[in-house]
Amino acid sequence: MAPSRPANRPQVKPGPPLPPKGATQASGASAGGPSRPANRQSAKPAAKSPGAPANPAPVVRVAPRQRPFSGGPRRIATNIYSATGKRTIRELDARESRILLRVDFNVPLSDGKVVDDSRIRAAVPTIKALLEDGASLVIASHLGRPDGKVVDGLRLRPAAERLAYHLQMMVPTTGDALGGGTEDAVKRLRPGELLLLENVRFHAGEEKNDPAFAAKLASYADIFVNDAFGAAHRAHASTVGVAGILPSYVGLLMESEVEALSNLLDKPNRPFAAIVGGGKVSGKVAVLEALIQKVDLLILGGGVANTFLVASGRSVGKSLYESKMVEHARRILKLAAERGVKVLLPVDGVVAKEVTRGTEFKVVSTEKLPASWHMVDLGPDSIAAMRDALGPVKTILWNGPLGVFEIPAFGTATRELAKLAAEKAEAGATVVVGGGDSIAALQQLNLAGKMTHISTGGGASLEYLEGRDLPGLAVIPTAGSPFETMPILWQEPKLEKRPAPKPKAPAKKSE
Ligand code: ADP
Ligand code: MG
Repeated sequence: MAPSRPANRPQVKPGPPLPPKGATQASGASAGGPSRPANRQSAKPAAKSPGAPANPAPVVRVAPRQRPFSGGPRRIATNIYSATGKRTIRELDARESRILLRVDFNVPLSDGKVVDDSRIRAAVPTIKALLEDGASLVIASHLGRPDGKVVDGLRLRPAAERLAYHLQMMVPTTGDALGGGTEDAVKRLRPGELLLLENVRFHAGEEKNDPAFAAKLASYADIFVNDAFGAAHRAHASTVGVAGILPSYVGLLMESEVEALSNLLDKPNRPFAAIVGGGKVSGKVAVLEALIQKVDLLILGGGVANTFLVASGRSVGKSLYESKMVEHARRILKLAAERGVKVLLPVDGVVAKEVTRGTEFKVVSTEKLPASWHMVDLGPDSIAAMRDALGPVKTILWNGPLGVFEIPAFGTATRELAKLAAEKAEAGATVVVGGGDSIAALQQLNLAGKMTHISTGGGASLEYLEGRDLPGLAVIPTAGSPFETMPILWQEPKLEKRPAPKPKAPAKKSE
């Protein structure tokens, strides 16, 4: 067997055995056909190497699709439809090309294991489509915030293991996104093979969108595909820089994310409700302001609701709220009143002595929240009001848990909402959920699969909903434009600065 990769390159084997899924075995793999150049081996299930363990995990390569070769990538879609308005991989004949694919494998890790692999699973359709098309893939991602330095705990190997499991094929990783070894490994890639570069944020050039770093990444490939919706709001080297050098396309995940979110903004079935919870308002003011222009109903929970309670004249005791945001909350309430948007603030809540497990807690009205307690969840009356209000609703956007759901005793409202959202989706409503913690709550209850759309992009989804341009998307040429089209230049917008509101009362507890 020809050595297809250097021995010193770390190998990630497909993980635990996959439940039988039917046709994972690439059936047409050996029908190499005359259209394949003689010097390239067709992808086939890896043969047993002499030193292989007795019972090796099944290795299946995705077989490139047969298609007459006609001289490089070209536009293949006759009827171009793109939800993003951007050139997508459906327009691309990827055969024989080497593709730099940016994905978002920024997944939560614990003890060196991936806790939630939703983002990895979400990238699989694009990876499979490109491999089946006969491309070789150099995959790039960031993970966490290593700030331009190598941080061993933020290596992408655990993500490679999950990807190997989902693809049921080897996912070699490099020890560095750059360097001679990586360049050699890239050169050795054959159609239908892939390689995962090490965390691009180990290089300071990534977040600075350094042209030299972008040029090095771009040198690995003929084409760039961006499927990292979760990183599309960042103008970094591997999202925006490379798109200025290589012919660029968006992947299937990017497209489905944008389609789901743009449908919400442009043509929601009404009534349309937004449910916003989570810890802090500060990250959500802009999206709340944008949503207030679109929705018919706004339901608030979590720490976010606490700030709004203060804005409407209530005191919230020791609860988490942001004094600096009270003025913003007031403005949002005023906008809602002007537009006739119904806003549901908690009428009762669960208050706890401390925000810890096993602490004393009770249900009280939000009219008289005790001074030395923390509000940590919605109370039963608020949950009932939410259920009533959502009755006629046909479109739901949910971001942020309604309480400190990590502590099961304070997760009632979040769990009830998750169940209600699943019921609504089953009854035909459009339910879109964004935000890592909200999705985690859904997953705990095994309800994520019931939603119309789960957004993998936290910050990116919020910025999209705010109506801001996502630089990673903006730079990709328009659907249907010729292969050679240069990217659209993207420039950092100059945001107008709002005067900071003066807090009326000293901050109780803010972060
Ligand atoms: P998402 O990741 O879904 O966007 P956020 O990150 O905005 O959600 O908020 C999630 C966090 O908010 C959780 O850690 C949760 O414990 C916290 N939280 C929710 N309600 C409260 C509350 N009443 N007081 C303090 N923290 C809260
Ligand atoms: Mg979060």
